[in-house]
Amino acid sequence: RLHNAFEASEYRELGKSGILVSPLGFGASPLGGVFGPVNEEEGIRAVHKAWREGINFFDCSPYYGFTKAEKVLGLGLRDLPRESVVVATKVGRYGPSEFDFSPSRIESSVKESMERLNVNYLDVVQCHDIEFGDLRQVVEESLPLLESLKRRGIIRAIGVTGLPLHIYDYVISNSKVKLDLVLSYCHGCLNDTSLVNILPFLKENDLGVVNASPLSMGLLTIRGAPEWHPAPPELRSAARKAAKVCEEHGADIAELALQFAYQLEGVTCTLVGIDGVKNLLKDIDAVHKVIDQVLLQKVLEIFEPVHNITWFSGHKAT
Ligand code: NAD
Repeated sequence: RLHNAFEASEYRELGKSGILVSPLGFGASPLGGVFGPVNEEEGIRAVHKAWREGINFFDCSPYYGFTKAEKVLGLGLRDLPRESVVVATKVGRYGPSEFDFSPSRIESSVKESMERLNVNYLDVVQCHDIEFGDLRQVVEESLPLLESLKRRGIIRAIGVTGLPLHIYDYVISNSKVKLDLVLSYCHGCLNDTSLVNILPFLKENDLGVVNASPLSMGLLTIRGAPEWHPAPPELRSAARKAAKVCEEHGADIAELALQFAYQLEGVTCTLVGIDGVKNLLKDIDAVHKVIDQVLLQKVLEIFEPVHNITWFSGHKAT
């Protein structure tokens, strides 16, 4: 390795799984073109560069770009020593409204993901956006199936992901299967810190916590949120205002947003979406710089009126 941006002591255990992850993780959804077109070669270069910089946690899903993200990530992973990376993917979500958390689909999904990712075991498998599924099925069927894959040595750790935070309480309180981690998104960032409220509960349950979308899925960037972004108008407009204030300070809101998420205590891994080497290097640089407290206070003030405003995710009432 040429560089290692992180000290050995900075790698943290995902729950009690024995798996050590870098404090900054590589979110691979952009490699599926989720935020706009991404050049495949550039995506592969970013995977290699991240690894050389000491990032070992790579998160994907068959849903991202309808399997494209897994394929591109797999092309990057092919050249890396298998034990040196922690490969995470998901099961259960396959389209905007295509969900299947049944044991048979999970079993075939894991097999297909391993082929696309060029690996013969997966470090982490998470039930993806479970608020769209039947939580009872997740607890009674999906997690037990994942547990059996763990016993067979096909996967090493089990998690769940989703937007509403109450899903974690339900699953942790009702599951006989021991979870290793949860992945929460858009709740540990400049405009929304609601994840912080449940960190003690997650810690009590020995869970690894992946804090995903520190830029709130592109909302906290100069480019702004993609068209599909579910943030309500008042949040979008606060984000635009905050981005402008950062620019006036000669700063980049993405950098500040990542720094803010990265310093949250009790998070195992901050997971940022990577589309290429340029942003990857900016992001690694950002987490090693001291946060500008004056600018941070100004930006937090702008978000104050919309703090913790979120959006609906899950079954619509019929
Ligand atoms: P994010 O908040 O990390 O933002 C990603 C966007 O910001 C991309 O467009 C990326 O190219 C851009 N970006 C990154 N660094 C930048 C920089 N320095 N300057 C400007 N733009 C920059 O959102 P995300 O990608 O949705 O979240 C990270 C990862 O977390 C995902 O890739 C995925 O792996 C995971 N995730 C999972 C779920 C789930 O399971 N339901 C939901 C959201 C995210």
